[in-house]
Amino acid sequence: MSKVKSSNLGYPRIGEKREWKKLLESYWNGDLSELELQSATKELRLQGLRKQQELGIDLIPVGDFSLYDHVLDTSLLFNLLPERVVKEKGKSSIDAYFAAARGTQNAVASEMTKWFNTNYHYMVPELKNANPIVTINRPLALYKEAKEELGIDGKPVLVGPATYIKLGKGYSDEEFPQLLKTFTTQYSKILKELSEEGVEWIQIDEPIISTIQSKDEIKVIRECYEEIRAAVPTLKIVLQTYFESVNFFEELTKFPVDGIGLDFVHGDSLADLVQYGFPEDKVLFAGVIDGRNVWRANLEKKVDLVETIQLYVDKERIIIQPSCSLLHVPVTKQTESTLNPILKNALSFADEKLDEVVTITTALNQGAQQVEAKIEESAQAVHSLDASTYQQTPFEEKSYVTQRELPFNDRIVEQQKRLQLPLLPTTTIGSLPQTAEVRSQRLKWRKTEITDAVYEEYIRSEIKKWIEIQEDIGLDVLVHGEFERTDMVEYFGEKLNGFEVTKFGWVQSYGSRCVKPPLICGDVSFEKPMTVNESIYAQSLTKKKVKGMLTGPVTILNWSFVRDSIPRYDVLNQIALALREEIKVLESNDITVIQVDEPALREGLPLNRNKWDEYLDAAVHAFRLSTATVENTTQIHTHMCYSDFKDIFESISELDADVISIETSRSHGDLISTFEVNTYDKEIGLGVYDIHSPRIPSVEEIKENIDRALKIIPASQFWINPDCGLKTRKETETIGALRVMVAAAQKAREEQLIKLS
Ligand code: GLN
Ligand code: ZN
Repeated sequence: MSKVKSSNLGYPRIGEKREWKKLLESYWNGDLSELELQSATKELRLQGLRKQQELGIDLIPVGDFSLYDHVLDTSLLFNLLPERVVKEKGKSSIDAYFAAARGTQNAVASEMTKWFNTNYHYMVPELKNANPIVTINRPLALYKEAKEELGIDGKPVLVGPATYIKLGKGYSDEEFPQLLKTFTTQYSKILKELSEEGVEWIQIDEPIISTIQSKDEIKVIRECYEEIRAAVPTLKIVLQTYFESVNFFEELTKFPVDGIGLDFVHGDSLADLVQYGFPEDKVLFAGVIDGRNVWRANLEKKVDLVETIQLYVDKERIIIQPSCSLLHVPVTKQTESTLNPILKNALSFADEKLDEVVTITTALNQGAQQVEAKIEESAQAVHSLDASTYQQTPFEEKSYVTQRELPFNDRIVEQQKRLQLPLLPTTTIGSLPQTAEVRSQRLKWRKTEITDAVYEEYIRSEIKKWIEIQEDIGLDVLVHGEFERTDMVEYFGEKLNGFEVTKFGWVQSYGSRCVKPPLICGDVSFEKPMTVNESIYAQSLTKKKVKGMLTGPVTILNWSFVRDSIPRYDVLNQIALALREEIKVLESNDITVIQVDEPALREGLPLNRNKWDEYLDAAVHAFRLSTATVENTTQIHTHMCYSDFKDIFESISELDADVISIETSRSHGDLISTFEVNTYDKEIGLGVYDIHSPRIPSVEEIKENIDRALKIIPASQFWINPDCGLKTRKETETIGALRVMVAAAQKAREEQLIKLS
């Protein structure tokens, strides 16, 4: 009898202790040669593969490992790195690859944006006049490597053609079918070589399918798969979707592929299965373990779920796997030595998730009694957490204030009176460079090698130093610099009730940057002021206004790992109320400009459009719950690092923030066109330079960005700021770039004043 198999979709690339990050950064700093980088990262890659092998996963993904981003890898695969970087660094050089990701002094980086509804960022393919040609078949090389080194007959993973193109830019909607055709030919080439090498299964990731609304488009994509089928008749292809169920289930199951991968955790794939059934000629790759969250599964329930699936699909045609790549969860919980044991026992990171997958598979193959202890233990772990002191209670909606006293047009006048800012005021987004020194002081403090007082004194000295630098540069609204924060969410997680933080629970955010999402395990509430001391201190050093700096409720929610014993939106409102308390304390200490960052608002949009309204309403409600009770003269700022917000323009406006800053520069003006069709009536700063790149822009460039924005946004509403926080930049880069920005602002201001006179 053939047996049920287990599979994985992708494994974290960063290593248990973020070894990957360190290697990359050493290479970028010139402390590591290319050869050293390649061999060290190979070791890391093999380590991940070896673990999956030891855990007993049958279909192990290969080619998912990346030196930066899998979408950029796909661009490289098709020889589509931007010409400007190739010109500078040479065609297939690793430096051209990194230059596309990070920019150089002469070449701007590619745009970077969020991967579906995650906090992972990918490099946007530049597809204007794209002429894809396969250069080096990297998936093939990685397949061979796994086979030769470890005897693994891996399952190569590719970003699918529809997803790759849809995530790219530089073409019109009408050009999509033709572009898809062009790429299909190249995909076929790659697949042919893989097939000839003896690959059995190949995973083609098409998460874009969950976002597609039109049947015609599904048809066009289907045609592409027909062509691929014709090119590789015997290669087994799994068309993999994730993060949501799909809109055209029935059509999808008719695609000429051998397997369909569905997410059985998010959305409602089970209902689709019940309604439409599943074709007898296909294998179902069932994503039953949540690949996006860190909570341990109750395996009793998961086995039940698979047994229900078995009513519609024969047992031997089901493959058990996580719901998506494990890129979005940390590597292993084994190294967490300080967590509450009940909590730790209820967690599951990548390695543990794979073990869950294997346990379910074994239960199906050999009967549940074979793994009874493990199943029982998992149910027990979940029950223990439910019964512990970590309790979550539903949010009670009272008649909370969610409307500011005066409408914007009236309160802004009062704010202007109080703030006395020049035309086109300059500011930054909040964080300033977290130097090696800042990080080492924090580490010493965490290891209790230095006392709280010494650490606090050090933070104060950084604040003081940077208040002076900002004054010297000539910025108008200053920041304290966020030196005390490792991360904009974790920091609040450590201080609010209801959270716990891990030690090594890192996940990749963009490039080498990783974040450590806190765990929301219990009811969230305010305990004591979290940001007030630093803000008051910074304000005491200057006559200019210093912005108070908070992370907003939506972002805290989206960038945490939230338990699901109560609805997410209840947790969201709890966070919002806690932040409202903090804002009150800031206000009562004369902090008159308060920024509530919501960089994660856009990314949290559900893939399925039908769920947008519910999400946006909840997001707007929570933001206003936090901010609406301030005085008219208190200016609320918010910040978002996502440029593509034409779809949610109205909701952004409904947040009713007095000033919003948005990341713009990597979208090269796309955002600006949004304002050509929509009028925004409040104040706004469109980022005038890219902070993700070490490159210092010129005055002319920044001035150009300002001018472009001023064509459609009145100068009286416009703020001048970088794209995002500056914590990842070096001090010299930051000072250099900010000086340039202030000079460009000064020029723009002079021109405006001449115009007005
Ligand atoms: N205030 C935060 C910072 O400057 C905002 C970061 C973000 O948008 N991701 O770091
Ligand atoms: Zn940002």
